[in-house]
Amino acid sequence: MKPLSGRMPQSPHLDDSATQLRAWERVLTRFAPIYLAFVVLVISSAPSYGWQAAAFMILDLVKGVLTHLLGSRMNRVGAAYDINQYSGAVLIGAIVFVSGGVGSPFLPFLVVFAGIFPILYRESRAIGSFAFLIVVAVVASLGPAQSSDLDGVFRFGTLVCVILSLRVFGTDLLNSGLDYRAASLIDQLTGLPNRRFFNKELKTISAELASRPESAALIICDVDHFKRVNDTYGHATGDVVLEQVASILGDSFRSHDRAFRIGGEEFAILVRGVNAERALSAANQLRQQIVVARPADIEVSMSFGVAMHEGDTGRQWLKRADQALYKAKDSGRNRVELAERLRS
Ligand code: GH3
Ligand code: MG
Ligand code: MG
Repeated sequence: MKPLSGRMPQSPHLDDSATQLRAWERVLTRFAPIYLAFVVLVISSAPSYGWQAAAFMILDLVKGVLTHLLGSRMNRVGAAYDINQYSGAVLIGAIVFVSGGVGSPFLPFLVVFAGIFPILYRESRAIGSFAFLIVVAVVASLGPAQSSDLDGVFRFGTLVCVILSLRVFGTDLLNSGLDYRAASLIDQLTGLPNRRFFNKELKTISAELASRPESAALIICDVDHFKRVNDTYGHATGDVVLEQVASILGDSFRSHDRAFRIGGEEFAILVRGVNAERALSAANQLRQQIVVARPADIEVSMSFGVAMHEGDTGRQWLKRADQALYKAKDSGRNRVELAERLRS
């Protein structure tokens, strides 16, 4: 039998930094040649634009190399890369500023950041970083006008860099962003959306239901005596049970109803447009299906708590469903209980 200690079935934060780091590493390897071409362009522009632009470029380069060298030794390596990225945008902005502002041939290169930020960060942070980038672009474009005989060459070079970057971001980077997002919202074992996803959905749906006369049920269910399953048959068999239970729960509803894995052996299902009677009968059907299915060829049962939405917040709704689940456990397990009505 495998030991259970140390196992954390739900650790989205740990997963997050690891996947984010992988995404960063992919960004760096794919982006390095394009960035180096840009370095060469800016440094070779020094005789025409003065050394200020080149100095900012060298600063950015050194900072990037240091982040990469020191990054792996830091605890918060994701944060180190973030700082590097934001300060990089500021330095490129400075290069634009000193090389002609709105007329600078290097201005289009800021677009590259517009490609990186939204892919690496989730919605709220992506919006913030986008706003940051717009401020940098506006300030940079205020730089004093400059002209140079070599303008055309640099303009062409920057555009080639930008087009190549967008090509890279369009495929690999987009995928790495999706991996990152998927890994932080999808449970790795069962493939169901995880607790974090559930919290988001619960909040959104409760807010929607508060302003709309639609009935909806929250079903919470938990495998009975699952610790015994692990203790008797081993952790790997326990995992198979969870996978099969998840597949039954995930398949049994309409496509817009969702099943989530919200804890080790605890699941939630949000069902819209049903009354209490139908929600109870759906939960009972699931309960029977699981008994009949004998996941991993073991006698397995689940207890269910059902709560109808009654204008309560997501948190209250979940609490009522949880209380019903406890009641089902207390009254002998392998049964469905309806939550009490909301007291106002
Ligand atoms: P109850 O009927 O009251 O729910 O009893 P229980 O034994 O199911 O509940 P308890 O909370 O005591 O035990 C849950 C067990 O589930 C303990 C934990 O180690 C195990 N577990 C949690 N996540 C996983 C997982 O991903 N895989 C496996 N195999 N076991 C897990
Ligand atoms: Mg249990
Ligand atoms: Mg449990």
